[in-house]
Formats: sequence, C-alpha cells, structure tokens
Amino acid sequence: MHRWRQTFVPTLREAPADATMPSHALLIRAGYIRQLTAGVYEYLPLGWRVLKKLCAIIREEMDAAGGSELLLPALQPMDLFKKSGRAEAYGDDLFTLEDRHDRATALGPTHEEVITDMLRGELTSYKQLPLTLYQIQSKFRDEPRPRAGLLRGREFIMKDAYSFHVRVEGEGGLNETYDRLYEAYSNIFTRCGLDFTVVDAEAGPIGGSASHEFMVNCDNGEDTILRCHVTGYAANVEKCEIGFRLWSFGDGAEGAGGEPTRHHTPNMPGIEGVAQHLGTTPAGMLKTIVFEVAGAEDGDGLRWVLAVVRGDHEVNEGKLRDAVAKETGGRKLAMADDKRAHAAGFAIGYVSPRAILGIDPEHGGMMMLIDPDAATAGEWATGADEADHHVTGFRWRREMGDVLEDPRRVRVLDIRNARAGDPSPGTGGPVLSEQRGIEVGHIFKLGDKYSSVLGLEVMDEAQKRAPVIMGCYGIGVSRTMAACVEMSHDDSGIVWPAPLAPYHVEIIVMKPGDERQDTLARELADELSARGLDVLIDDRAERPGVKFKDADLVGIPVRLTLGDKALDAGGVEFKRRADEGKGEVAPTAEVVARCMEAIGAIGSSA
Ligand code: ATP
Ligand code: MG
Repeated sequence: MHRWRQTFVPTLREAPADATMPSHALLIRAGYIRQLTAGVYEYLPLGWRVLKKLCAIIREEMDAAGGSELLLPALQPMDLFKKSGRAEAYGDDLFTLEDRHDRATALGPTHEEVITDMLRGELTSYKQLPLTLYQIQSKFRDEPRPRAGLLRGREFIMKDAYSFHVRVEGEGGLNETYDRLYEAYSNIFTRCGLDFTVVDAEAGPIGGSASHEFMVNCDNGEDTILRCHVTGYAANVEKCEIGFRLWSFGDGAEGAGGEPTRHHTPNMPGIEGVAQHLGTTPAGMLKTIVFEVAGAEDGDGLRWVLAVVRGDHEVNEGKLRDAVAKETGGRKLAMADDKRAHAAGFAIGYVSPRAILGIDPEHGGMMMLIDPDAATAGEWATGADEADHHVTGFRWRREMGDVLEDPRRVRVLDIRNARAGDPSPGTGGPVLSEQRGIEVGHIFKLGDKYSSVLGLEVMDEAQKRAPVIMGCYGIGVSRTMAACVEMSHDDSGIVWPAPLAPYHVEIIVMKPGDERQDTLARELADELSARGLDVLIDDRAERPGVKFKDADLVGIPVRLTLGDKALDAGGVEFKRRADEGKGEVAPTAEVVARCMEAIGAIGSSA
C-alpha cells in the first residue's frame, strides 16, 4: 500500500507542445515519465512500477521458454563492432566515445557481439547446447529522429535474448527455440492486453535469414503492415512481397519511327507537379533512381544500380539490395551521392532509363532493375537525362533496343514497396490491405553471422569444429509500455489493463484527517493488499475535483471514493476506470469482493 503524499506523482494539466502522440502526452501528464534530453527519459515511481510489472511478465514467459537471465555491460569495445561489420551497418546510430586511453568504445545498441565473444572459449561442445540467455537493460541508439516519447528513444529499455545451437533443424535446433520464443512473445503481448499481428520482417542491420516482428495494431503506428485476409500472409512493408504481375516491353513494331517529345520543366516541386505539367499522372511516369554500391571504385565491378519504378511507387531498398547481392558481394547499396553521380554523368532529378546507354562504362559497371509495373508497353513520361528537362512518349522497346534483352545489364523484378490493392504473394486473386503498427518485438534467425566472424565454434557430434548457430530476440520494453497507453486511453487519461497497472485500486479519501475516512481507507487497503492487490491511497488535501481528474489521468483500474455521504449510507463509491459516468455506492462489506472481481475480470480478459 502506498500513499500519494509519500510518493512522487507530478501530474500536469497540459502536455508539452511536442507531445503529439497520446502515449507521449499522457505518460508525461500523468506523472509516469519526464524527459531529460532528446529521446532520454526518467521513469518516475508510477512509470517504474508499470515497467516492473511488464518485466515480471516477460521474465515469467522467458523462463518458461527455457531462458536464463544475465546482465551484460552497456559499455562495449568498438573492436567488436568492427569485427562484426555493425560499426558500418549502424553508422551514426551507434553512440561512440573514447576512454582516457583513447580506446574506442560504444554504448550497446544490442548485444550480439558481446555475448558471442563472451561464450567463445566457454562453449566447447555440442553437449552444452542449446542455450538461451536473456537480459533486460538500457540500450543506446542515436536515432536520427527520437520522437513520440518512449516509442522512439535514444536510451530505452530492451529485453534481448540470444540462443545458441549446433544445428538449425531438429531437436535442440534453432528452429525449435525460435518457435518456442515466438510462442513466448505471443503470450507476453497477450498478457499485456495488446491487439497485435506477427509479420514477416526485414532483418536490417542485425542480420540473419528469417525474422518476424510483433506489431501492435495501432492506427498511430510508424510501421506499415500489409496483410492478405485470404492466405493470412502478413509482412512489414520493408519486406512484403508482391504477387505476380504481368509485364512486357511491347513488340518492336509499336510506335516505330516516332520520337519522344522534350519538355522544359525547371523548378518543379515534386512528381505531382511535373506530371501535371506534362499532362499525365505520377502513375504515367517512370521514376529512375540512382544507387551506388558502397566503396565501389571505377573499373571494380558493379558500381551504379538504376532502379526504375512507376512514379507513384516507392523503391524498396532491401529488395534492391537482395536483387544484386551476388554482384555487390553483399556490400551496402545506398542512394547515390549527388556530387559523385553528377561527375559520372547522371542528370540527378532528371534521369531516365536511357542513362544506362549514355553513361561511359569507364565510370564503373552499371545495372538497371525495373519493377514489373514500370515494364509495360505504351507511352511513358520520364526524365530527359538533362537538367530541367523531361520527355513524354517514351517507349521501352523503341528507346532502349537490345539492351533490354541483356540480363547482365537489365532485369525486371519486384523492387518496390507493396501497397494496398497489390496482388498478394502466391495467389492470383486476393489483394493486400494495409494497416499501421508499432513494432514491440522482433525475433531473428541469425545463423552463423556473428559466430563465424567472432570465432564462436564448438565440436559437433561428428567431432568436427562448427560455428555455433544463433538466434536473437528483442522486445522494446519501454516502447511496449507506451504502446499499451496508445491502445488504451480516453480523453481523460490512461486506462490501464490490470496486469500492467501501477496499482490495481486507488482509494480517494475525500477529507484526509477525518478519523472515520482515514481508518476505513487503511482497513480497506490492508484487506486488498492481503488479497494481492496493489493499492494507492490519495490522501492529499486537494479539492475532490482535482483528485478525480488525477485519478482519471493516472488510469488505475478501480477507484474507491470515501466520502461522508456514502459512509453514512454504509458504503463507499466504487468505479471502474473503464466505465463511463459516476460510480455507484457499494456496501462496505462487499467492496473488497467487487474489487477482486473487477481486477480478475480485467485480468483474464487481458
Ligand atoms: P525500429 O525499426 O522501430 O527502429 P529496430 O528494428 O531497429 O526498430 P530492433 O533492433 O529489432 O529494432 O530492436 C528490438 C526492439 O527494440 C524493437 O522491436 C523495438 O520494440 C525496440 N526498439 C528499437 N529501437 C527503439 C527505440 N529507439 N526506442 C524504443 N524502443 C526501440
Ligand atoms: Mg526491428
């Protein structure tokens, strides 16, 4: 049992101006968190109570799935990141510093390197595997845009787990643990009362083959999810495949003899404006984006990749990277640097597919990847490969000729982001629909990505040395707390699901100092505590209106109000936070049972 006056719940009437997401505004207003600096938050007593409850659920489920908890350092030698290649993959997102001996050090964004390095020399035999270790700890990422409070911080709390195996399939293999943790994650988010979808995901800088994200189905979410309601397929837009699309460059005969028409199009902001000026729509335009292979030099194999999509579509960099992985040797592909691209002869902003014909091969190898929706016969509007100019009447076959038949230079394949209405993969009929989500968990099959570069090997059953097979599994703990608020609030404040609520019952004493009210508050609190409920007594000498407003803001599931009128009638006012309107007077003798019922009911539905 706690008393409001002995704890620290600094509620505010107004949210900070930059708090546009409800969870951000409400967690600050209700006194759960405060911002120290951009993307860095203090967890106040109420916030920390919620996090501890969430962590307890996570620990229960992780332990039940065979995990063991440990705690690794946040300070990590940079050398490890250089070895794994993540120094480059994370780039500026990695917080780095130098110690007094000039040793390069990083603050952990996750712990694949540290844990792999720790187990090297400790694990020697397949007999010690499988093994699942996890921790709950602060992580550090210098996010370019920390925003929305706890949803995207620069210091945030994560549960990260790592599993170690001698094989992928079969008993004790990666797949078995992966499936078990998939279940554990589903249990965790279900127990938090969250409505979520599990989607196919991009592995990103963490790497590996298969990966799934746990997405809270929230319209305010940052991520876009695509789903097929017929096949059940669901994927992050970063990963989502698109079903079969018919394409054709047309036959040589069509439009023979004609010429595209050039147009002067200076200073036009955006593709919409250009399309309108050219008498078409973005869907009638070809968008050609120049990508460059990281670190590639002239004469050193593939350097430039032209990505051609319809003007109303977006290039998917992951699909592009995968499509040329063989040619790039897995090197990073990024949008070309303007200066270097200009020097190589690209009219950036006005590039057309014809750039592949016009650029001097001295400037390095070049390939063009075309999305099927952009590879269709008929007339297109596109850049003119000259500053401030576009052309209309572009026809693939006529303008490009035989190069279209050379698979070393031109390929047609899925390189764009899926969107609502696209055909769903593996089917002819059903289409994808779109929704938004908040990523609260992400699990990865890493394989030997970290173990092979960091030298983590064991003797397998055949007495051969083999790199350990790994999986890793993250939950954004502080983000999950915010996601719960995002999903469960109203105009007056937070409405906690019982399993995460900082307290189950709030007792408002209308006249603190009044003997009868104080005594009853204490008796009720003792009895509720004895039954396992957490109780907060609002014993402040504030006006009732202030206390009621704060109770709604803070969002504790059950409110009991002890006032003279109800007490005279032999009862106290009972109200569920989730219910509308005023509470009702319940006979004092029944109040504890009513609380148990309310919390139990909320608990089991959550
Ligand atoms: P995002 O795509 O949202 O940036 P991520 O894919 O980089 O996240 P992971 O590396 O998969 O994140 O980290 C595991 C989990 O940690 C994520 O699923 C997410 O819930 C949480 N997380 C990641 N970045 C942040 C952040 N900046 N603030 C709060 N939680 C985060
Ligand atoms: Mg992720």
